[in-house]
Amino acid sequence: MLYTLPDYYPQFHCIADKCEETCCAGWQIVIDRQSLRKYVHMKGPYRRRLLFSINYLNSTFLQDEDKNCAHLNKDGLCELYRNAGPESLCRTCRLFPRHIEEFENVREISLELSCPEVCRMVLEKQEKVTYRTFERHSGKSEENFEDYDDLFYSQLDYARWAMIDLAQNRAYTVPQRCAVFLAAAEKLQKCYDHRQLFSFGDVLAQISESGSIRNILKKASGLGREEYLWEQKLFRTFRRMEPLRASWTLWLEEVTDRLYRSRNNQCRKEQRYPGEPAESTENVQRQAGAHLIHDFERWMKRNTTDWEIPFEQILVYFIFSDFCGSVYDGDIRTTAMTIASYVLAVRRMMAAVWYRNEGTMNLEDLENMTVRCCREIGHSDHNRRILAEFLKKEPLPLCRVIRGED
Ligand code: SF4
Repeated sequence: MLYTLPDYYPQFHCIADKCEETCCAGWQIVIDRQSLRKYVHMKGPYRRRLLFSINYLNSTFLQDEDKNCAHLNKDGLCELYRNAGPESLCRTCRLFPRHIEEFENVREISLELSCPEVCRMVLEKQEKVTYRTFERHSGKSEENFEDYDDLFYSQLDYARWAMIDLAQNRAYTVPQRCAVFLAAAEKLQKCYDHRQLFSFGDVLAQISESGSIRNILKKASGLGREEYLWEQKLFRTFRRMEPLRASWTLWLEEVTDRLYRSRNNQCRKEQRYPGEPAESTENVQRQAGAHLIHDFERWMKRNTTDWEIPFEQILVYFIFSDFCGSVYDGDIRTTAMTIASYVLAVRRMMAAVWYRNEGTMNLEDLENMTVRCCREIGHSDHNRRILAEFLKKEPLPLCRVIRGED
């Protein structure tokens, strides 16, 4: 079995009761079948409380009205762990925040950015993240997944490392690196659709050339207004998702109101982009959101050494953990757009935070925002599905342009 891990993996330690965002609240903890069997037969003084803490229909732990797990005590500690020891934890609790992507004879292990301690560790890292792959014999026979395209996985794996190289190219801003990443994914999708898997290498070599990058960035820079309108729809999509916490709904309202003026149905009206003439006071108001984003990006450019690195870490994190998942559905394009949407969502939310803080922000703000986005969007199958459906229907403007050219 081949294992791949990021270099920061061994440094992680759970800070338990010191954690500001316990992993035992906010979402439903699914109990695996083996643990459920173990719980039913468990003896001892904690048995009664344990058996009454399970929703047997969904195989989940019950929660209180604040969505805290039934075993979470007021000190932020797990009563199941305290009473029955670490072996009593279900697979979800035992693993979190470790995340394992399974491929045939390959396991890719990462740590969830929705854990604040992981997020701090990743976003505060100044060096480019590296990954280590090693082989370990498990004594079991080789895996043979049904309907699994091993050649496609190996090409995606190759492409993923090339994409990470592009994402770590510090000569460009992170939005520029996202644009190159999306353009590359669009071209790889075309190769896949035409069963030209061996062309992945040529596509990536060509796209990494400076002339080609310049070309993509030129196209992207001409799409400011379309992108702004697309972002409005993206944030409207976020507002259709099921929130884990009520405060998230309020926060989304604040961001959309500040950046996209979506309240009172204004987002359905044509929005103006900086540089376009304003004809009325109403238009001037509508321009404010787009100008705010513009000013924030200018501020980011002036402070680029401090701020682009944490955004790079977010982009690289998602490319590593999600990109090869397209082996299961062949949809490289939607996977890449989902990754870019996470990075973009955090960035736009930071523009709102920056504005609220009167033109400044700190790393803690960015870490909080990243944790919240990952929890609210990434940890619900339902929400992930809504996002994927939106992206299929409304691709990012740059992807549409690249696709139209081919
Ligand atoms: S979210 Fe992370 S640091 Fe916090 S309790 Fe869970 S594993 Fe520990």
